Amino acid sequence: METSQTSLAGGAQEITIRLASLLLPWYRKNARVLPWRKNTDPYRVWVSEIMLQQTRVEAVIPYYNRFMEALPTVQDLAQAEEPLLHKLWEGLGYYSRVRNLQKAARMVMEEYDGVIPGDFQQLLRLPGIGEYTAGAIASIAFGIAVPAVDGNVLRVFSRLLDFSGDVSDTKVKKQLTALAAASVPTDSPGDYNQSLMELGATVCLPNTAPKCLLCPARCLCRGCAAGTAERLPVKKEKKPRVIDEKTVLVILYGGRVLLRQRPEKGLLAGLWELPSLPGHLSLEEVEAWAASKGFCLEALFPLKPSKHIFTHREWRMEAYLLRAQAVPSLPEWVWANGREIREKYALPGAFKAYTPFLEEWMEV
Ligand code: SF4
Repeated sequence: METSQTSLAGGAQEITIRLASLLLPWYRKNARVLPWRKNTDPYRVWVSEIMLQQTRVEAVIPYYNRFMEALPTVQDLAQAEEPLLHKLWEGLGYYSRVRNLQKAARMVMEEYDGVIPGDFQQLLRLPGIGEYTAGAIASIAFGIAVPAVDGNVLRVFSRLLDFSGDVSDTKVKKQLTALAAASVPTDSPGDYNQSLMELGATVCLPNTAPKCLLCPARCLCRGCAAGTAERLPVKKEKKPRVIDEKTVLVILYGGRVLLRQRPEKGLLAGLWELPSLPGHLSLEEVEAWAASKGFCLEALFPLKPSKHIFTHREWRMEAYLLRAQAVPSLPEWVWANGREIREKYALPGAFKAYTPFLEEWMEV
């Protein structure tokens, strides 16, 4: 069986010299037309890069267009009300991204007179901007010759070099980032970084055989020549996700549904949700819980189970619909009508098995 190398020495120099000249013409001919590529204003590039973290390009496009229409400038973002922000992000997940985006926009208004700084180190100081995002904004929007290295780029470099070091190891990441930095051309850093991203997204694909026959860098690629590319990059095994079992309660009363707000810190912080109880409860247990809280029910029936996967957790949900004739006083929770759910209360995608039917159920 072919084996990959564990040192970066072989092939590195050739890559730093030749890779840009192979990728740039290919990118300029083949790049997908994406809304954030039409105009490389720093604010637009920044918002797109934050949205694209952990989310597929096709899923991001409608969110991006809506966001830009509602909040076209960094000042609009800094001044936006939280419910609007949550609504614009509803379903995209990882809500800390939009909270950090606004914190950073406020910092830009206060410390940089509303002008996004064209400097890698200053970009890094803004909340939610790490090395990759700072590199992407600096190179694409400001033409600064810095690398933008994410998982896609690490994969491409591992394969080009036939390199089997563990890319989740910080030292290895640093080595590959240094190599990527040395390969960035000073005349087109933004297009070059985007060409690497594009190659990783459309040709040098993850978790499957790369499409080497279509690759502009094939003549340089040691992983392709050795037949090892598909097995690269090497990453150490992730810790298994924590499983949370929950019983979700869709409680209806007078054409409204009961919602509660999640705590200010932690998973889905500050968002509204359908209430839930820990564990998987039987119909009798839910009935007993409702009676103990002072709900008088006229109907109770099970809904289909669902699950939602976060980065480190998985919710396995059973659910019940409860129709109440009388309800206790619940000062901390809200009874929301259909319009308020559409316009005011952003419900996380974790409840998407139930939320599309809420208005229908409320009308019955
Ligand atoms: Fe990836 Fe194949 Fe191109 Fe190498 S030749 S960079 S493995 S697509």
